[in-house]
Formats: sequence, C-alpha cells, structure tokens
Amino acid sequence: MTKKGFIKTEEEIAIIREGGKRLAFILSALRDAIKPGVTTRELDQLAEKLIREGGDIPAFLNYTPEGARTPYPSSLCVSVNDEIVHGIASDRVLLEGDIIGIDTGIQHKGLFTDSALTVPVGKIDDAAKKLIKVTDEALAVGISVARAGNTVGDIGYAIEKYVKEHGFVIVEELGGHGVGYHQHEDPHIANYGDRGQGMKLKPGMVLALEPIVNEGTRYIKLMPDDYTFVTRDHKRSAHFEHTILITDGAPEILTLRQ
Ligand code: MG
Ligand code: MG
Repeated sequence: MTKKGFIKTEEEIAIIREGGKRLAFILSALRDAIKPGVTTRELDQLAEKLIREGGDIPAFLNYTPEGARTPYPSSLCVSVNDEIVHGIASDRVLLEGDIIGIDTGIQHKGLFTDSALTVPVGKIDDAAKKLIKVTDEALAVGISVARAGNTVGDIGYAIEKYVKEHGFVIVEELGGHGVGYHQHEDPHIANYGDRGQGMKLKPGMVLALEPIVNEGTRYIKLMPDDYTFVTRDHKRSAHFEHTILITDGAPEILTLRQ
C-alpha cells in the first residue's frame, strides 16, 4: 500500500511530470547509444551518469524487492534476446541482430517514474521487428483504455487481446503497477484480464503500464542471479513501459520520448 493512497495531488503530479520528462530524455539518449560492440555495463554507466547529472536518484540501484536476497546492482535493467526483464549490467557485448530491453526509473524530488523500451542492435530479423512493434503497439492499446471509469481489468484485457491477435503471448507473472510514492505500489496491473474487473481508475492515479511479450512460450525462468527472468524456450521477449496519469479525459503519457 502507498503511504497516501492512490491519488496524487496537483503538486505531486507536477513533480512526477518533470521526472517523467527527464526519464524520457535519458531513455532516448540510451536508445541512441545502442549499437553493436557496446556493453550493457556501458549503457548502465551512461544511465547512472545522466540521472545523477540531473540531480536525481537512480531508483533501481540498490532496490531490494520483496523476496530478493541482495539489492539490485544496476541503475538500468538490460534484458537481451531471451532475457525478459531485470537483466543485470555486465561485460556482455551487444551483437548485431540482438534486441535489448532497457528499463529504468528515477526518483525526482522524492517521487518516482518508470519507463522502458526494446531496441534493435543494428540490423535485426523480421520476426524480432514484429515482436518489438506489436509490444510497443500493445502498450499504446493499453494506454488508450486507461481512462477514468474503466478498470485495471480493461487494460489487461485490451493488451492481451492485441498481443494474441498478432501471434504472440503475454508473460503472466509480470506486469504494471502504480508508481509515484514508491517504485512499485498498488494496484498491480496484469497484462491480461477481464473487462470491468479489478480496481476502477480515477483521475490523479499514476500508473506504469508495461506489456511483456514473448515470441514462443509464455513460461519463464528466474536465473541464479535472483533477478534476470528468461524465457524457458530461449525465444525472444520484448518490453515497453510508460508512466501515465489518469485524467478526466485521455491519459497523459508522462514519459513520452521525443
Ligand atoms: Mg520499469
Ligand atoms: Mg515498472
């Protein structure tokens, strides 16, 4: 549960909006730095540098989720090919044809934002292009129904339907969440669900929507590092995420990239 409930004040929203802008700028810079030969550690170092240059705090670094034995050691989650989410930066060199999910969060003036995208490394095959495109579009579909009066289930239903129609599968163990006072807060937002089910959305809620989509099996495995999830069949996975604000009308995407 959050310390103050789900609805953010105007003042808090202004801070989160500025944090979201900064996070979008950082993810754009990281996207532009991705090319064959770069290591995931170099990307993580760039992420931390850009976050701290803005006077903000990397939200993921040393974050210890419930059940984890050690704090998370990177500012940026780097998840390559069959890695789904929460991959840890290392000396791994990116190769032409890889795809990499980059996911980060910042704490700006005490409030959190969270965003991710999946990026091609050089030239990628058509199947990977389609996986990335459908996952990105699934996020847009989820955002389009994130309106006051709809429910968390409406978002999950819309995302799952879109992903299935395009021949891919949803990872059911991972999903979106409320964000703002904490990196992760209620409600959990599954990327599947039933229309009209779950918590009703209200203006002032800040949510991180994040479809996580596999090209093969939906089943996942946690690696011995305690963080990195991979697909059981080692086929690829993609991930897109935005922090959004529920309003009286269309949702506002707080982490929209230029
Ligand atoms: Mg994230
Ligand atoms: Mg998230």
